[in-house]
Amino acid sequence: MSTNTATSVSLGVRDVHLAFGENRVLRGVDLDVARGGTACVIGPSGSGKSTLLRTINRLIEPDRGDVLLDGRSVLRDDPDALRQRVGMVFQQFNLFPHMTVLRNITLALRRLKKLSEDEAVQVARAQLELVGLADKTDARPAHLSGGQQQRVAIARALALQPQVMLFDEATSALDPELVKGVLGVMADLSAAGMTMVVVTHEMGFAREVADTVAFMDRGVVLEAGEPAAIFESPEHPRLRRFLSQVL
Ligand code: ADP
Ligand code: MG
Repeated sequence: MSTNTATSVSLGVRDVHLAFGENRVLRGVDLDVARGGTACVIGPSGSGKSTLLRTINRLIEPDRGDVLLDGRSVLRDDPDALRQRVGMVFQQFNLFPHMTVLRNITLALRRLKKLSEDEAVQVARAQLELVGLADKTDARPAHLSGGQQQRVAIARALALQPQVMLFDEATSALDPELVKGVLGVMADLSAAGMTMVVVTHEMGFAREVADTVAFMDRGVVLEAGEPAAIFESPEHPRLRRFLSQVL
């Protein structure tokens, strides 16, 4: 898969705190992803993984701490501009059901990138080709499999030429036989040099694709390192317990 690797950036999360009322969901999160690197975030349900991703693209503002792209804080940037630089893919694909696949992608290009209809269609077709769905441009989402819908959602995010991609359990809602195709697209993107943060339960993917695996528990990154270190010689008892349950 080709992508504009020249524009990929490093990502730094620095001591990010966030509470919902009394519930301190993020309690000082640190995470580093090198330019073009892939970090997989693993950890139990409720540990703050989704909330962390949402603070990175500023769907939520952290109470304290900072988010850096190439060393520069993004917290003062315009959130809409930032969301073009940081693409996000969710567990539920969030496609517009009443629009064709093509329209789902051109809409954002027209609105956010101010492309002409012809330009938008050209970019959308190219992205659909990269995720293997060139023949589905005129289909409605409901006529696609979950895996195909998720690949459309990925194409839609990539069409905006983000510098970072965030994936929040992108394969968790899929039937098992559809998971591989979506993980394959994500692995290709990682290999092409996209900077990515991937929240996932797919330990095989984390082991093979990630440069860094970060284990989150109760609002902090308890342990982070290369996949081999995390999976073969985890240090923290809570990580060992988590791995014994999921592997
Ligand atoms: P994970 O993705 O690791 O399962 P989340 O980040 O979704 O964890 O949630 C962490 C905690 O934050 C949970 O206790 C959840 O109930 C709470 N939470 C998440 N989003 C909100 C919200 N918008 N308002 C209030 N509480 C929230
Ligand atoms: Mg979550």
